[in-house]
This record gives sequence, structure tokens and C-alpha cells, in this order.
Amino acid sequence: MQTILTGVRVNEEPTLGNFLGAYTPMINLAHEHANDSNINMFIPDLHSFTTPIDHSKLYDQIIKGVKYYIAAGLDVESPNIHIYRQSHVPAHAELAWILDCFTPYGEASRMTQFKEKGAEHPDAVTVGLFNYPILMAADILLYDAKYIPLGEDQFQHLELTRNIAIRMNNKFDAPIFTIPASEAEQVKFMHLEKGLRIRSLTEPQKKMSKSSENERSKISLSDEPKHAAKKIMSATTDSEGVIRFDMVNQPGISNLLQIESLLSHRELQDVISDWAGQTSYGDLKRKVAESVEHFLADFQEKVSKISDKQVEQVLTKGELYANEVANQKLYEVQRYVGVRK
Ligand code: ATP
Ligand code: MG
Repeated sequence: MQTILTGVRVNEEPTLGNFLGAYTPMINLAHEHANDSNINMFIPDLHSFTTPIDHSKLYDQIIKGVKYYIAAGLDVESPNIHIYRQSHVPAHAELAWILDCFTPYGEASRMTQFKEKGAEHPDAVTVGLFNYPILMAADILLYDAKYIPLGEDQFQHLELTRNIAIRMNNKFDAPIFTIPASEAEQVKFMHLEKGLRIRSLTEPQKKMSKSSENERSKISLSDEPKHAAKKIMSATTDSEGVIRFDMVNQPGISNLLQIESLLSHRELQDVISDWAGQTSYGDLKRKVAESVEHFLADFQEKVSKISDKQVEQVLTKGELYANEVANQKLYEVQRYVGVRK
């Protein structure tokens, strides 16, 4: 059975970008493939502190992260759906070390996110920040995951994962790891034309990021719905004065059209047809603000109905499964590298 896998870090409150870029495709794939695939949606909690965080809040964020996965629509009763914490499956960190030793430094140094995040936190560039794509490779390769629903910003790390897997399979002349599908295949599998990139509300040439310190740049999943609507109303647009879908010249307006299409479950082309040529940015903003407000109110109500007890049950089941699968793969790798007979 093939495995579909994804995770969203819990360093900060997840955003609408995470929801639309990672949760939504994963939930859609879970609905489509829960009979023929393992659906692994994990909390990459060891990735949470590659950049500085408030550690006293992390545990609660992790539990909330699990609630978000359930509220987003994962059917936790399904035997093929697995939710687990990376930190509770020690094989992730162990395999990451082995993969480190098969990753050329030069190749890891080319990761643009490291350069960007490093520039944002110049006083806190740690080895962990540099290394995190290799831990991410372990997260994927331990489970032989072929499809990894991700936002556009993560494709470079996926390519690194593929390279590491190919290199190790070649080195030991054995199909140790399943090679994750290429970017083009991933996008096709998600029924998209290309990877998604929801934009920052204040600097729409950049992506929306949960770690952004500018609260107005992002819609967090815990934002008070009316407050979130206000952020949409004050989103940065442009001075063209005509609505067009053009991510290069009108990224702010195009971002709003994209968000509207995803939240209203309508084809982007249909939403564009409704609005193209109109001149009132205010009308479009009001419509998107309404959709965001409605989405958040509904989502937050679902989250509030999930108990800590249910989270505990879901994690116990998921972590039992994950440890079994991951240890089997780790032991196999340990045999190839020569530390286990
Ligand atoms: P951070 O700023 O802390 O890196 P992030 O918002 O980039 O946070 P991640 O935890 O790094 O979130 O990524 C989780 C998932 O969400 C990944 O699949 C990533 O590609 C996706 N994602 C993140 N931001 C966006 C976005 N703006 N649009 C679409 N997908 C996104
Ligand atoms: Mg990120």
C-alpha cells in the first residue's frame, strides 16, 4: 500500500496558508485514498525550534495541532489514517543522522529557505536550522512515502529528499527507500496545476508565513473571525484599479482571488471570471473577508469540540503504528550501513 504523508510545524499558530497549502490537499487525498493508501499526517515537533520559540507554549501547540488535523476533516476512525508526533518516534532523529552522512555539504548549503530564514534570524542561525531538510528527508523516507502534499515553498526540500534516497539506493545497490514522486507528479496527484503559494497580506510578493512577526501579514487559524476579516479589508493591493489575476503585477488582488476560490470550493477560473475587469477592490475584499470569517468561525467551532482525551487516543494509536513502521525501516538501513546484522 502506498503512503501519503505530510506535516505542519507547530512553532507558531498555523495560518490560512498552511491550511490551504498543506491541510486541504492532504484531507482531499485522504478522502480519495484512505482505502488504498496509508495517510500519515504527523506533527513535526522536533522541527519546531529550528528558529527561536517560546518553549513553555510548545506542548499545548502540539496538542492543538492534532486537534486542527482532526477538525480539518481527517477521519480518525479509519484504520489507514495515522496521526503521530515526530518526537515520539525516535527513528526519525536516528535516521536523520545516518542521512546526514550521505548528504554532501554543498548540496545542503544550496537550500534557499536556510538562506532566507538565516537572514531573518541572523543571531540564531543554528546547525538545526541548516539540518532540518535532512530530518525532513528522514520523516518521509522512513515510511516509504511517495506523495507528500506540500506548498510550493517546500519543493526544493523534497528534491533534496529524492536525491538522498537515490544516492543511498545506488550506493548499496538495493531499493532501500521508495523515491518520492517528482514535483510534477506530486502536483498532478494533488489535482493542481502547480504548487500553492498563499501570499502575505502586507507584502504579497512574499508567501504568508506563520513565523512572520507582522500579525497583519497572516491569518492565523486561531484569529478571532471578525479580526481576521479586518486584516483582509486592509490587505495590500496595487494601484492598477482593475481586478485581474496576475501574480506578478497584481499579487495582492490575485492572492484574494485564490483564497476566495479555495474557501468557496470553486474553480479559480470561475472566480476570476466573476471578478475580472471590475474596479472595486473593496467589493472583492468584502467578499473574501466574509469567506474568511465564515471559514474561521466554522473551523474553530469544530476544534472546540475535540477533547484532549480524543487527542490522546488518536496519538496512542498513531504512534504505535508509526514506531512499528519506522523501526523496521531504520533497522534495514542500519543493516546496510553495517551497524546491525
Ligand atoms: P514558518 O514561517 O515557520 O516556516 P510556514 O508557514 O512556512 O511556517 P511550515 O510549517 O514551514 O509553515 O510548512 C508547513 C506546510 O505548509 C508546508 O507544506 C508548506 O509548504 C505549507 N505552506 C507554508 N506556507 C504556505 C503558503 N503561504 N502557501 C501555501 N502553502 C504553504
Ligand atoms: Mg516554512
